[in-house]
Amino acid sequence: MYNNPEQFYSIEMIVVDEEGTTMQGNVLRRYFPRFEQVFNESDCYFIVKPTIGLNESKYKYVDNKNKLGIYCDTDVYPCKDFNGPIYGFSFTSFKDIIDKTVPENKSIDVIGFVADVKDLKKFKTARGKDTKKLNVIIQDLEMESIYLSLWDSYVDRILEHWENREQHGVIVVILQFGTLKYFGRFGYVNSCFNVSKLFINSDVDEMTTFRNSLIANSAASSCSSQSSRLSGIFLSLYDEYVVRSEFNNIAEVNLNQAKSVVVVGTVQMISEDLPWYYFACKTCNKKVFPKVNNDTPTVGVLVDEEEVYECKTKTCKDIVIEYTKRLKIPLTVQDSSGTVSLTLFDRDACRILKTTAANLIEKHVAGGDKGLYPDEFEALLGKKFAFKIDISEFNIEHNFWFFGVSKLTDDEDIIFELEKKANNIEVETTASLNNRFTDMESEDTVNLNDDNCTDVIMGVTVGTKSNEDFKSKVPSESMDDNVITPLAKNLEDTAMASKPLGEPAIFKRKTKKPAFKKNLVESYDVDENGEMSTTKPVKPGKPTLLIPKIEK
Ligand SMILES: [Zn+2]
Repeated sequence: MYNNPEQFYSIEMIVVDEEGTTMQGNVLRRYFPRFEQVFNESDCYFIVKPTIGLNESKYKYVDNKNKLGIYCDTDVYPCKDFNGPIYGFSFTSFKDIIDKTVPENKSIDVIGFVADVKDLKKFKTARGKDTKKLNVIIQDLEMESIYLSLWDSYVDRILEHWENREQHGVIVVILQFGTLKYFGRFGYVNSCFNVSKLFINSDVDEMTTFRNSLIANSAASSCSSQSSRLSGIFLSLYDEYVVRSEFNNIAEVNLNQAKSVVVVGTVQMISEDLPWYYFACKTCNKKVFPKVNNDTPTVGVLVDEEEVYECKTKTCKDIVIEYTKRLKIPLTVQDSSGTVSLTLFDRDACRILKTTAANLIEKHVAGGDKGLYPDEFEALLGKKFAFKIDISEFNIEHNFWFFGVSKLTDDEDIIFELEKKANNIEVETTASLNNRFTDMESEDTVNLNDDNCTDVIMGVTVGTKSNEDFKSKVPSESMDDNVITPLAKNLEDTAMASKPLGEPAIFKRKTKKPAFKKNLVESYDVDENGEMSTTKPVKPGKPTLLIPKIEK
């Protein structure tokens, strides 16, 4: 009861009949002695002569205006041959949540697989109770994704599965009787104290069906093994590259805004005339600089072989530092739309080349062939990767067209999914460009390039993308202004050379139309497998918020 948590006002329940109709029900306090011991969750009963009242509560856990009252006249006895649905789920589609056509304050059920968990928060409630909250990104069969906000014991249950996801494989969840809240652009389905039910990889028919469809979809949409697609690793890559990142064709990469974007491209070239390693501070990983010693006369003195380096960052300034050599491989990467210059850093480079920077550098320096890169780098040539690249404030300020790679993957399934997006954007862009070219022939290409592309991309990554994602993804290693500052001058030529390559690509698209028709056919083939909405672009200019609320 309100003033006394030990005392209950009523026993609340949700009942489902054989046809799947659900209704909220309760036993008022005065009838507790008779019914308290009668009901067990998930058991089936005949309820004879209940009373039916109006359900006037603000939160309706089920979509039913009536309420079942169990009172003095009611009889309850067990039923052994119930043939209806056991749980009475009524799933809300993610698309409706994303489009905000589902009203708030209504209880909903959702089913999906866990793509990522994030933002674990622990805090105390006003009453001093320890509580915790976790956001879970779940995706449905159409690869739409939404947030679940889970609390307390639900958090532990999800984390236990998530941490062992490599064993469990895909984690399918159902949240029943969740409540929907919109924050900004996104809908969050919250677990609700004492009412919601969380099912994780349970032996529930609805889950089995979901899982089977998921496997069928992934098998159909990808030629490589479905098991890899359904592993936790795939899901987290998928989430990172496909769901939460903005995808750009290479010609669309621009300096309008600092952010990270994903591109897919093939390594065409490694610049021979650019340095491919640098000296980095062991403490903070930033580039270190040869120390200028003002006391020593600079004329007529041999420079010592062992140069002294200093780190200029706040933490290391004025202290003696240790430094190490790290890779920064200058790559030229190309897709069908254009070319871009990228810097591949130590960690990823070593992972792909399966060696260490020290090895490469020692061997190379011993060989004495300065100015050229080690042979090992050639393993990168002709390889296709999905690159997550950072367009930094530094790039924007200095009109510097060399981007740091914060992450890359050669996972075929990820590249496949991303290339579907690329085809879609190309088709859209080509169509809209063709219109424009007939309308206004003298239009500046730069403007054309700016127009709409971003909107199209935003439409592709509906659901869970937030600006926070981009801001918080600071690369953990070495990509910073200090590292690339000294390059800026040397690279002016390269930058100038690579930029024009990107822009005329717009024209190439127009002339390459037959190729896109082929792409179109290919992507429709894929779409027949139910993948259509993954890549469905939002038509530029279509208002996305003018969606009427459903009134009942
Ligand atoms: Zn340092």
